Amino acid sequence: MNNDILLQSKNDLIEIKDHYFKKIISKEEIAEMVDLIAARINEDYKDKEPLFLVALKGAIFFAVDLLRKITIDCEIETVTAQSYGDNMVSSGNVLLSLSNVKLVDKDIIIIEDIVDSGRTMQRLLDKLKQRGAKTIETVALLTKPEQYKCNINIKYFGKAISPDFVIGYGMDYAEKARNLPDIYKCVSINED
Ligand code: 5GP
Repeated sequence: MNNDILLQSKNDLIEIKDHYFKKIISKEEIAEMVDLIAARINEDYKDKEPLFLVALKGAIFFAVDLLRKITIDCEIETVTAQSYGDNMVSSGNVLLSLSNVKLVDKDIIIIEDIVDSGRTMQRLLDKLKQRGAKTIETVALLTKPEQYKCNINIKYFGKAISPDFVIGYGMDYAEKARNLPDIYKCVSINED
């Protein structure tokens, strides 16, 4: 049995690699946020055919749930963006890998899981502008405005949170916990 993730469901705490994480956003609350964002996009883009650009891997759960609620015609592409290593601190270096998909004259909507320093989103915005996108808007399930190091405005977001490191619903800690349906924040280090 793999004991890396220990669930203590009684008090909504989980333990991963000597760190404790506490549930802060339930799957029901996530579903409500997704519905609200999808409704706004469906309304704002009703006369357009946007291209959704999903930032892998963290945004996969959010993107799948969101895109199932999008009722307008659209295209979907992915981009790989990486700024965290195996720890809980943003490296500041953003590695981007964007396929050769045609972006000229497209109305693009970037889907991110969470915006921390904003560097990933800023790099993406710069790159998409260079590649001739007509309009670019941004969606993130969560934002950490106190952490922003760039002057960015996330048009559609579910919730602004404090600067804590969070996991679950696609977001990992050293590649673990992406599959958890709820979102947890790091609360302490287990010193047992
Ligand atoms: P930024 O470039 O805004 O500093 O970081 C954005 C990316 O870092 C997100 O797409 C996400 O992959 C990762 N990230 C930022 N904050 C967190 C967090 O609290 N938890 C996890 N698991 N990843 C995060």
